[in-house]
Amino acid sequence: MKCDPTLYRASKPALAVKPRLIRHFFLPPLIILLMLGLGYAGYLFSERNGIRTLSENGERQLELHARAVESEISKYTYLPSLLELEDNVSKLLTEPDGAHRQAVNTYLEGLNRRSRSRAIYVLDTTGRVQATSNWRDIDSYLGEDLSFRAYFQDAVRGQPGRFYGIGSTTGEPGYYLAHGLEEHGKVIGVAVIKVRMEALEERWQRARLEAFVSDENGIIILSSDPARRLKSVRPLTPEIKERLARSLQYYWWPLNELQPLARERLSENVEKLTFPANAELSTGEHEVSYLAQTRRLIDTPWRFTLLTPLQDLRHEAITQGVLVGVAFALLAILLIAWNERRKVIATRLAAREALEEANSQLERKITDRTADLRASNERLKGQIRERRHAEETLRRAQDELVQAGKLAAIGQMSTSIAHELNQPLAALRTLSGNTVRFLERGALDTASTNLRTMNELIDRMGRITASLRSFARRGEDRGEASLAKAVDAALQVLGSRLEGSKLQLHHDFSDQQLTIDQTRLEQILVNLIGNALDAMQAQPQPELWLEGELAGDKYRLRVRDNGHGIDSEARKHLFEPFFTTKPGEQGLGLGLTLSASLAAAAGGSLSVEHPASGGTAFVLSLPLLNAPSQPAEPI
Ligand code: ADP
Repeated sequence: MKCDPTLYRASKPALAVKPRLIRHFFLPPLIILLMLGLGYAGYLFSERNGIRTLSENGERQLELHARAVESEISKYTYLPSLLELEDNVSKLLTEPDGAHRQAVNTYLEGLNRRSRSRAIYVLDTTGRVQATSNWRDIDSYLGEDLSFRAYFQDAVRGQPGRFYGIGSTTGEPGYYLAHGLEEHGKVIGVAVIKVRMEALEERWQRARLEAFVSDENGIIILSSDPARRLKSVRPLTPEIKERLARSLQYYWWPLNELQPLARERLSENVEKLTFPANAELSTGEHEVSYLAQTRRLIDTPWRFTLLTPLQDLRHEAITQGVLVGVAFALLAILLIAWNERRKVIATRLAAREALEEANSQLERKITDRTADLRASNERLKGQIRERRHAEETLRRAQDELVQAGKLAAIGQMSTSIAHELNQPLAALRTLSGNTVRFLERGALDTASTNLRTMNELIDRMGRITASLRSFARRGEDRGEASLAKAVDAALQVLGSRLEGSKLQLHHDFSDQQLTIDQTRLEQILVNLIGNALDAMQAQPQPELWLEGELAGDKYRLRVRDNGHGIDSEARKHLFEPFFTTKPGEQGLGLGLTLSASLAAAAGGSLSVEHPASGGTAFVLSLPLLNAPSQPAEPI
């Protein structure tokens, strides 16, 4: 079973290769790129979201802690102005003497202890310390000139002095609040209170809060991380550095810049800062990012900055980015798998459809061919029937013809037969008359000799009629015949004609058993030899050759004469029925036709040869009864 191969051809190869190439070479990198891109987008989105949430929370924290700082600062604001109320202080400033100084020193010492400040002291308008709470200490401020301090300069001008700095005597940082002490509308001195703010820092550290306060110069004065303390949050120009150095506000501190690795402004007062990781808080990372939220502290030029670490947020964002990437990859793999499966199913369906189509085409073809075959079978059967019918008709006609030919031959030969029979009859009459007379005379010997001759004559007559009878009889197509007997019988039939001629007969054949009816073989031979005799009538030395030879499973008998031969025109019609060159009633033109058809009916043939030496040769070829076994021919 063969199916049409075009049915299985899905598409042109050139068109099929291109999408496959694209799929194989571009799809994986594309998916990886998309995965990375989406992962990064997920990371950014998560980070932004986290930062928004953090900054909302941080806003509250910022407010809370900024207020705490403000209240810490403001609680000392009123203290220096209180000294205006103290008589001893104004006395000391107007009339500085030992008694007043001692009284004020003691007062200030007590006040400082109660207010838990670092130091409280009073300066005259020249900036020299007239009394101080730490008058007992070795590093007491007493007598020191602090006119260079900005807080003094502000306060002496009647403005509140606010100042964070490092003490020039103790080297200790602190918040200085100064107030110009007035008497009768005139500044007579300055009261200063120094406050330590480390408590705030300690509170932040305990609460694990990262925060710092930067002053008007941008210098970090308070920080939960000591490493950031006294660093500048803004770039400092050399002029500013020099001014600060001159004011000794930060003593001789180097005032380096707090340089973040990266700074990203997110909104007003909100920044993302990245610092190198603190070696002490080693988390295995090289840098730490913070959300920095800043707020100005009320009544001061200071700014409070709250730092919220973004480390957890970053981890979370990375995790979410990875999750997005992995989810996309999974989705892509699922989609690819689904697509592949869809294609496989489509291909299978197409193949099945093609197969079904091929099958139905095949079935259609088979049905058509079967119908054709049936029709041609019917036609063939019809033809076979017709042929059989024609064969039957032909055979009947042939039989009729054979019979007619025989009868014609008998008719033809009737003269010679009559002559043949009359001669012995006349001889018999004479001999019988003579025999009667010899018996009457008693010549028994002569009578018996006559009777023997009569017997022979009767035998001869019997043979003639017998051969005529067998000639006229209908025979079988395939019987069994002896060649030698047939030749004898034929010569016997033609005996009368042979007797008168000077025919030289050459026998050169062996006796063979042939598959043909004996009578038919005799009939053929009578025809052939009779024709030869006719052709040699004018021949003074007629010669007839009967030559035989074996040819496979057949035996060939050549009947050759040296008669007048056959002209070229007659050769064309030789085997046609009723073709004859013989004049009048002599020829019927049936002999050769009948002989050829008898030979053919027996499975043999009859053909003619025209020897160069002259005359004619008819070759009768008939199947041998016991043919020598033939080697099988290759198929
Ligand atoms: P008929 O003998 O009645 O003519 P045949 O069929 O036997 O019919 O022969 C047909 C013709 O073939 C003869 O008339 C004759 O011309 C030619 N023929 C047959 N045998 C010979 C032969 N041996 N030599 C020459 N001519 C022959």
